[in-house]
Amino acid sequence: MDLDKSHSISNTMSILLPHEIKNKLDEYVIGQDNAKRILSVAVYNHYKRLFLKNDDGIEIEKSNVLLIGPTGSGKTLLAKTLAKILNVPYAITDATTVTEAGYVGEDVENILLQLVQSANYNIEDAQYGIIYIDEIDKIGKKTENVSLTRDVSGEGVQQALLKIVEGTKARIPPKGGRKHPQQEYLEIDTTNILFICGGAFVGIEDILNKKNNNSSIGFNKSESKINLLSDTVEPQDLLKFGLIPEFIGRLPVVTMLNELNIKELVHILTEPNNAILKQYKKLLEADGVELQYDKNALETLAYLAIERKAGARGLRAMLEKIMIDAMFSIPQQKNINIFKITNSLIEDKLNIVTTKKIKIEKKRKSA
Ligand code: ADP
Repeated sequence: MDLDKSHSISNTMSILLPHEIKNKLDEYVIGQDNAKRILSVAVYNHYKRLFLKNDDGIEIEKSNVLLIGPTGSGKTLLAKTLAKILNVPYAITDATTVTEAGYVGEDVENILLQLVQSANYNIEDAQYGIIYIDEIDKIGKKTENVSLTRDVSGEGVQQALLKIVEGTKARIPPKGGRKHPQQEYLEIDTTNILFICGGAFVGIEDILNKKNNNSSIGFNKSESKINLLSDTVEPQDLLKFGLIPEFIGRLPVVTMLNELNIKELVHILTEPNNAILKQYKKLLEADGVELQYDKNALETLAYLAIERKAGARGLRAMLEKIMIDAMFSIPQQKNINIFKITNSLIEDKLNIVTTKKIKIEKKRKSA
């Protein structure tokens, strides 16, 4: 077949090419290269699907994505950043708050309402938006979450989500809340909304390792090993978490994120456009004080975040604790020009005992 590149979809529609999407993601999201590549292609294909005619009978399926990775590895950030890059409305929700209609909790339609609100009630725009559904691994069929009012099976929630994920014309109450017969509804078609689901899927690495017969691979290992694992995720592995086959079938693109290492976490503290330390620097500058830090101290924070299994999420919480006293007192102190984050400050504010300090030191040397 002779393909003329000048008529390619990217030329006619001015949509971002996969490598351009990936480059933009790089500005905000540290590491997770494989996930970024896979997402970039998924989004590019999503656009092709929207713009290509299907008069030849070939209909490209929606490339909804499943992100598997530990807490604080950047799943939500990836989805949010993607929406920002593409300039489309987005909504972020937690699958565990959704319930089957008729139970206490939120109706699935409320997720769509969030999206419509993020599009300033422009339904047309909302219909091309992105929805991120977190904690998708927590709505398995055999959930422990036994409650009289909640849907205890989890399956009902999956069925309800399935409908909007695969594409439906949903009617949503414009002010949210429960449906009410007298209310006017907004109608939204979910066919072209890109769904990104995320979850930690604790234990999946063991399942995959067992399958691959290679016990040395795990979340906290190198990214290339994670890529290897990522390639081997199959629907039956996800069935083990209680996801129903129909739902898994609607998430054809699966990728894994690795646990962030010390170097990446230090990067996150200092490099991205809105890095936490850049924010503190700016805040203190407003009081005429320069924020300084040594690399050692940042590595200690990174180590603690890993140890607390909170990933990058742990960094902010720890820094809040470390900085709060300074943020309180600095505005009234006239004679202070420099504030420095050091190991001893961290140890003092986070109450770290000597044995832990030794462990951190060892870890740092081996990093
Ligand atoms: P997850 O959804 O995987 O639990 P999040 O994306 O919510 O994690 O991450 C929490 C916060 O940590 C983000 O808002 C961001 O500030 C930071 N963060 C997490 N992962 C990364 C990353 N890979 N690069 C840059 N920042 C990150």
